[in-house]
Amino acid sequence: MIFEEIPENHAQFEKLYRTIMNSSVSHAYIFEGESGLDKKLIADCFIKMVLCREKPGRGCDECPVCRKINHGNYEDIIYVRADENSLKDSFIEELQARLMMKPFEGERNIAVIEDADLMTDRAQNRLLKTLEEPPVGTVIILLSENIENLMQTIVSRCVVYHFNSFGEERYLSRQALAERVAEMLLDSMPFYALKSELEETMQDKKEIYMFLDALEHYYRDLLVQQTEKSRLYRRETIFAAVAAVENAGKDLRRGMNPSYALKNLIIELEDIN
Ligand SMILES: [Zn+2]
Repeated sequence: MIFEEIPENHAQFEKLYRTIMNSSVSHAYIFEGESGLDKKLIADCFIKMVLCREKPGRGCDECPVCRKINHGNYEDIIYVRADENSLKDSFIEELQARLMMKPFEGERNIAVIEDADLMTDRAQNRLLKTLEEPPVGTVIILLSENIENLMQTIVSRCVVYHFNSFGEERYLSRQALAERVAEMLLDSMPFYALKSELEETMQDKKEIYMFLDALEHYYRDLLVQQTEKSRLYRRETIFAAVAAVENAGKDLRRGMNPSYALKNLIIELEDIN
C-alpha cells in the first residue's frame, strides 16, 4: 500500500509530499492517531515516500526498496516495540547504538518507535539526547495515541502529524472479509459466490486497495503462524497467493478497471488453491 491510497488523510499526504520534494525531511516526527489506527502502516508508507527512487515522494510499492519495507526486512529501518507494558531505557540505548552505525542499504537510518506512549521517563530522557543531536540522515518516527503521554521536551523537538482514523470497524470488517474469501477459496466455492461476496468492495477503488492489503496480510500471517489454518496450505500455495494479490495491486495502479482486476484475482486464486 502507498500513502496516497490511505483514505481520509490526503491533506497529510500532500504536506509530507511537499517536505520530501523540498528536501526538508525532519529528523523527528510524531505520528499521532487513535488506538485502532494502524500507525505502523502509515509510518511504512511514509518511509516508502522518503526512500523510493522509482517514485520519489510517493513510493511505488514495487521496487526492491518498497518491497523490502513491505516485508519488514529493509535493514536501515529499526522498529522499537514495548516489552509487555513499558518501553524501557535499555531499548532506547540499543537503538542509539544502532543509529551510530552507518546505514547498510541507503543513506538514512530510520527508527520507528511503535509504542512511544509506553516509554518510561528514563527512556524518554535518553531519547531526548538523540533528538537534540541526531546522527546525520537519521529519521525518528514516534507512533503515539496521544501526545499528552509524551514529555513536552520530546514533543517540541518533533514535527507532529495527526492522522485521521479510517474506522476501526471498517478495518476489522475488511479483515473478516479477507478471511472469508480465503476460506471460500480453500473450499473451492464457485466463482459467482466469491464475486457476490466482493460485490460491494468492487464498487470503490480505495476499498479494493484496502481489501488487497487485508488479504495479503492474511496470507502472510499464515506463513509465520503455526495454526490449524496454516496447516491446510502448502507453503508454495501461500507464496503464490501473496504474489497474485500483489500483482492485482500492480494492475490497479497501471490503470486496469478495478472490478476487472478483482475478478482476475479471484480466477487466479481459484487456480492456485
Ligand atoms: Zn518504490
